[in-house]
Amino acid sequence: MIDVSFSASSAGIPHLDDIARGLERHLRFAPRHSGADAACLHLTSRRLPGPFVVNPQRGVVVSTWESGGVCGYTGIGLDDYLLIASLLALTQWRVLRGNPLLRIEDLRHPPEVHCLFAGPHSVQDFALLLDPPIACGGCADFYHCLGADSELIALRQVIANVLASQTYAAAKSTTRRN
Ligand SMILES: [Zn+2]
Repeated sequence: MIDVSFSASSAGIPHLDDIARGLERHLRFAPRHSGADAACLHLTSRRLPGPFVVNPQRGVVVSTWESGGVCGYTGIGLDDYLLIASLLALTQWRVLRGNPLLRIEDLRHPPEVHCLFAGPHSVQDFALLLDPPIACGGCADFYHCLGADSELIALRQVIANVLASQTYAAAKSTTRRN
């Protein structure tokens, strides 16, 4: 479980309680200022530059904007979509927080490798990276060395869950793309 201090702008996010329960499959909502080294995770329906934003000081913001379209396109459930976005953001937050000399630019990804960590990207580009969802071996080594093991393990569990899900398999077989 990964401790986060969770907040949400409820306006524009239907079924927020259900969404929060979905996130709690891998995230433990810690009280604010509990002393735990918990990232602040804020959920918003606002459009961001991408599916999430990472700020080493303030925490991470994850957007539900266009999530319905992405989930329909990819066959990935909303819970899993938001968990993947949250865990990618929290992985990057963890390494930036624990390694103050690193900057967000240092997390840039080789563009030729298909990987969820490739970015920064728009929500539309992110939808393509979810087809299929992969965290590449280079990123596994990189983020492991920088101390984000808990986040990586959770991310891999969510990815495995997606790949095993029937809705994902159905989306693959009915709309074979590329
Ligand atoms: Zn990668």
